[in-house]
Amino acid sequence: MPVKLALVVLACCAPAGAAAQSFPDTLLYNVAVLPAQRHLSVEARLTVAGAGTVPLTMPPRALAAGTTVAGFAATDDRGTPLRVQRSGGGFLIDGVRPGAVRFRYRLDFSDSISGGSTASGLDSSRLYAVARSLFVAPDPVATRKTRQAYPVLRVVFILPSGWRLVANWDSAGRDLLPRSGEDLLGGTLAAAPDYRVYSGAVGQSAFNVAVRGRRAFTDSALVDLIGGSLRLGAAAFGRVPVPRVTYISDAGRKGRTSGSLQGTSTIGLLWEPGEMLERPRGHDTFHETLHLWFGGAMETERWWTEGVTDYFAALLYGGWRHDPRDLAELCYQSWRNYDRIQYRGTMTMRDEARERPGGDNTMLLVYRKGMLAGLLLDAAIRRNTDGRVGLEDVARRVLELASGRQSHTVSEQEIRSAVVSLGGRPASREWDRVVGRTDLISIQDVSGALQVVTGMDLPPPQRVLDPKVLSNTSHQ
Ligand SMILES: [Zn+2]
Repeated sequence: MPVKLALVVLACCAPAGAAAQSFPDTLLYNVAVLPAQRHLSVEARLTVAGAGTVPLTMPPRALAAGTTVAGFAATDDRGTPLRVQRSGGGFLIDGVRPGAVRFRYRLDFSDSISGGSTASGLDSSRLYAVARSLFVAPDPVATRKTRQAYPVLRVVFILPSGWRLVANWDSAGRDLLPRSGEDLLGGTLAAAPDYRVYSGAVGQSAFNVAVRGRRAFTDSALVDLIGGSLRLGAAAFGRVPVPRVTYISDAGRKGRTSGSLQGTSTIGLLWEPGEMLERPRGHDTFHETLHLWFGGAMETERWWTEGVTDYFAALLYGGWRHDPRDLAELCYQSWRNYDRIQYRGTMTMRDEARERPGGDNTMLLVYRKGMLAGLLLDAAIRRNTDGRVGLEDVARRVLELASGRQSHTVSEQEIRSAVVSLGGRPASREWDRVVGRTDLISIQDVSGALQVVTGMDLPPPQRVLDPKVLSNTSHQ
């Protein structure tokens, strides 16, 4: 009895500030998926400790999110309407008092089938959605800047009968529990009655592969490829950077093939129905997996996160297949595309990334020349060290730098320093030629570098290669 009494006294005498701290803001969503009307109906309840105006961001309209927010309205917890203003990319709810505010909206989908892995689509058979195209929510970046904690999140999806949800969030019963605002807006979700889900592990990290639709390859071949990409990625660059990775593989539109890492741990692979699981898609899958390291665990210039990633993807894919000709074919193909880029002799990759942010990845320097830069730097470092050191060592060093930083960002100058300290003056000269300047790269440069990297003579193919077909690989 005395113990109970003491507890009561402590509770009633706790300062108000301490009580407020022990109850963080919470944000709960109920999301009803209504395929017949091709929209979602979303209701949310946000508790806040403070009074005033609550800002919420909405799905981007400029990007190909594929959704539109309609009928946004807010009330207090007793149902009294609150004033809502449109503001830039979101809404402001005025007159909020400490406690709960409720808001609701309808989310219309413009496409029945997603046009690519970075967009969203809903029809009577499936939902594929990038999470940032679904949620009206407090902006996680703004919250971080003000050093506030993001509300504790819970999301419940109300699905059509028999549908199964695929997401990379923790769950407790029906509730999905995104860990943060970035997690809420940074993932990919999918739902359908016919997902086939496989799981595996590489080191301490688990992975799930959710597949639906008919393609010209078996599920097990795809799961093998994904497992191989994670295993070889971890062997080259250190353990998989996240505890769990989810791959969502759906059949998209004919003629449209797209893959992307969303957030830090979900990879969407939307391929056309007739797609074969041969070199191009194998390479793309390795590319997306390696974004867990480059673009996820480490951020830097796009020529590295896209182009050098494409080189490593080709190198590891060739290793997985035990056939260096795969690496050679992919590099020569990249050179053919590079050779068609009009401004390749006048603009550096860095300048292009600043001035031409959009475009097809088959015809951008950051991809095509970036991949060749990876090959040429790798060869320069290996030449100077009798093959003992390569670009993978540079990558491990810069990943280590990134891991100690909140932003995960490494500068171009820091990568250069790592290249020069591991590869010496020849690597420094190659960096200046390929990264720093716009000197043209010849096909002989490519075959010479391939010789160094593989130890084999892999001359350019006699026939004229087709340029790399559209794969629209992108990330975040
Ligand atoms: Zn990419």
